Amino acid sequence: MNVLVINCGSSSLKYQLINSDTEEVLAKGLCERIGIDGSLTYQKAGLDKEVTTPAMPTHKEAIQLVLDALTNDKTGAIKDLSEVDAVGHRIVHGGEKFASSAIIDDEMLKAVEECNDLAPLHNPANLIGINACKELMPNVPMVGVFDTAFHQTMPEKAYLYGLPYEYYEKYKVRRYGFHGTSHSFVSKHIAEFLNMDINNSKIIVAHLGNGASISAVLNGKCIDTSMGLTPLEGLVMGTRSGDIDPAIMEFIANKEGLDIAGVMNVLNKKSGVQGISKVSSDFRDLEEGMNDGNKLCEAAIEVFSYRVAKYIGSYVAALNGVDAIAFTAGIGENAPLVRKKVVSYLGYLGITLDEEANGNRGKDLVISTPDSKVKVAIIPTNEELAIARETVALVK
Ligand code: ADP
Repeated sequence: MNVLVINCGSSSLKYQLINSDTEEVLAKGLCERIGIDGSLTYQKAGLDKEVTTPAMPTHKEAIQLVLDALTNDKTGAIKDLSEVDAVGHRIVHGGEKFASSAIIDDEMLKAVEECNDLAPLHNPANLIGINACKELMPNVPMVGVFDTAFHQTMPEKAYLYGLPYEYYEKYKVRRYGFHGTSHSFVSKHIAEFLNMDINNSKIIVAHLGNGASISAVLNGKCIDTSMGLTPLEGLVMGTRSGDIDPAIMEFIANKEGLDIAGVMNVLNKKSGVQGISKVSSDFRDLEEGMNDGNKLCEAAIEVFSYRVAKYIGSYVAALNGVDAIAFTAGIGENAPLVRKKVVSYLGYLGITLDEEANGNRGKDLVISTPDSKVKVAIIPTNEELAIARETVALVK
């Protein structure tokens, strides 16, 4: 089966066409600046990227352009649209309504819309992408895969905040967690990779990208994760603060003359390692800065790594032990320095880093020494493939 995977944001759209039998990516790319000045990137497997700037006033034209590129006579990956057997859409927030992926129909879309409140920037954009696809491919089955679904197994003690219960009753204010597709994919994959029985396993997944989150997975089910009602909670991220004393919000608002939107903007876009270092949200720049003697770049890396290590410690408590720890996403897969710093806090678990293995990047690899009591591994994530697999499972 060929599955078109669509990840639609407010002004961008990423896509991959995946052959689900071979799990090969046939073509991929993205549309950027939809509604502004639009650009389309398209790359068929084995060929160079093509970048064009056709008119792209709405997501509908963007998707039409993607479909045209996929079926183009010269570099198209398929002959015509009949070769697209299903579409898998990433949807950010499924609230408490979706504990797993779901076939897209009118009733399902209504339930997604009811979650818009919880992700006002993301869910409406996801819905626009879905509706545009439905118009252009009315007879192709479509599936929604939620960032929050994997975390719906969290127990009440993990998802309730210490807030008036009526906010949960009235507005569903609770912890949801994100990156669920990645946490699900990586926790299953590390179990396979290490020949573990997932039904009898304690796994911690550290998804460390520009957005970063950690999850505790017991017997294949998520029991806790670091992001909350929104992706702002938890780890120190590229530009997000992660956990802070909530009273800082009032303090900064008064000092800097900011309203609540202004404070939120600081916490989401001007904080994290970018805010601490004053240099960059990208760990490549931070490492370079640190090597050039920039103390704030070094501090940013230290704060980031220490927070990851503290979360791992708390999840060892939540799981009452741990069998394996996975590092994934941009930083987790590619930054030996961060992995080394994090693992340096885990000696109490009987973990020693295999320095040579840790020098590698981007492939499934154990980076703890053979005598370590807990296995630590790099496990590259693949959210598009995970979405394609979920889609096939529901459509078949
Ligand atoms: P997201 O999907 O949240 O945008 P990614 O998982 O793609 O993020 O991660 C992007 C981040 O990964 C970059 O901002 C950078 O900090 C980090 N990164 C990527 N490549 C490297 C590398 N070679 N060394 C260190 N950090 C890297």
